[in-house]
Amino acid sequence: MNYFITTSIPYVNGDPHIGHALEFVMSDVLARAARQRGTPTIFSTGTDEHGSKVAEKAAELKVEPKAFTDQVSAKFKEVLSLLNISNDRFIRTTDPAHEQRAQIIWKNLSADIYKGKYSGLYCTGCEAFVTEAVAKENKGVCPHHNQPYQKIEEENYFFKLSKYAPQIQQAIETDSFKIYPDTRKHEILQVIKKGLEDISISRPKQSISWGIPVPGDETQVMYVWFEALMNYLTVLGYPENKDFKDYWPANVQVIGKDILRFHAAIWPGMLLALKLPLPELLFVHGFVNVEGKKMSKSLGNVIAPAEVAKRYGTDAFRYYFLRHIPSYNDGDFSWKKLDAAYNNELADELGNTVQRTAAMVTQYQNGIIGEIPPPEHDVSSYQEALAVCHFDKALDEVWQQIRGLNQYIDEQKPWLVAKSHDEEHLKEVLAYQVSSLLEIGELLEPFLPDTASKIKAIFSTGVIRPTKGTLFPKAQTQKASRPSA
Ligand SMILES: [Zn+2]
Repeated sequence: MNYFITTSIPYVNGDPHIGHALEFVMSDVLARAARQRGTPTIFSTGTDEHGSKVAEKAAELKVEPKAFTDQVSAKFKEVLSLLNISNDRFIRTTDPAHEQRAQIIWKNLSADIYKGKYSGLYCTGCEAFVTEAVAKENKGVCPHHNQPYQKIEEENYFFKLSKYAPQIQQAIETDSFKIYPDTRKHEILQVIKKGLEDISISRPKQSISWGIPVPGDETQVMYVWFEALMNYLTVLGYPENKDFKDYWPANVQVIGKDILRFHAAIWPGMLLALKLPLPELLFVHGFVNVEGKKMSKSLGNVIAPAEVAKRYGTDAFRYYFLRHIPSYNDGDFSWKKLDAAYNNELADELGNTVQRTAAMVTQYQNGIIGEIPPPEHDVSSYQEALAVCHFDKALDEVWQQIRGLNQYIDEQKPWLVAKSHDEEHLKEVLAYQVSSLLEIGELLEPFLPDTASKIKAIFSTGVIRPTKGTLFPKAQTQKASRPSA
């Protein structure tokens, strides 16, 4: 009955951007919705902090790796707070508890770990080995880093992933381990059907010192990706902690499409080897482009979440990313689209309806709402959309109800009813408006928590309680371009 949801843990070699923010807000909706249903919930996020890229970056800045990760990790925490993310846990892979428990996991995997000579292709940018097949597909050059793969030969530990391939495939095909959207499920099934090779899971300490030592072998450290995946267990206190017993398996794990292989092939392999149940659902979101272009350092178009939140606030940020970035696909951020969404949907459609309704009750009935009828709308489409992580569709449903309410007000014309002195009818119309807005507030709670609590504060006591400031005041100027810092 408990609910455990995780985000992937961002690698601290770069600062947080709006792509990370998308994953945070999506996961937050699921966590808040679970709590709203009354389900005990643990929502976990954090930062992935080992590996050579982090060590190199720290060296570049002439600081210790830990000091460097402290700084970047803190920036991610700031973003979580800025976006009103309700995570219960924040795990850092440099936490001593993670390091100790990762070593326990390694030991518990030891029946499926062996030492071997590794000779293979490696991208230093990805800090990842690639299979011959993938290298061939990419013509020998990493598509993420535009650099040729390096041939590396070294002694490593290997995990017998190949052994678990049939079980992983079956779990995915039978949906006992669900992957949404379907396109990602088919993508990973293709990979698994071609065969999963055993994977290298350690590096010699002389190549990488910034990592968790392999238990019982001073000369090797755990491969950063392998060890980072373990955070989903260590954060619950695997193996002995009560939280682990009460909350594993995860109900939903939210990741980006670039790390699908790690989470839909390697991770379930590790869990099977540990004899643990697989997560119920892996939800895979797409990338956020900026003004139609891929976000990249070299294009100089990377946007920090704070830049966007500064424009119209936290809930407007959440709204844009949850409704205007397609949940099942890549999406586009543009300032113009943000302005349009804010003015047309948040200010005109939602904010204005709230203000109008509060103003009419205040003007015609001295602020007294009276008996509020129970909600009467069918919210099953909203619930279904939320259950499959179709956040955009769920918000479409809410907005349909908002538009329906506006239409009702336009048709009923409460201002004319007030003039006709039909007090009973007027009371009925206004009470219906309030009831509908309270219902909208409930539906918005996981998505726009501040907005939802404002709506509740204004209407829920039966008497209008004015709040400070307007909900989503209309923006005066349309600033089409990026604001200058
Ligand atoms: Zn690469």
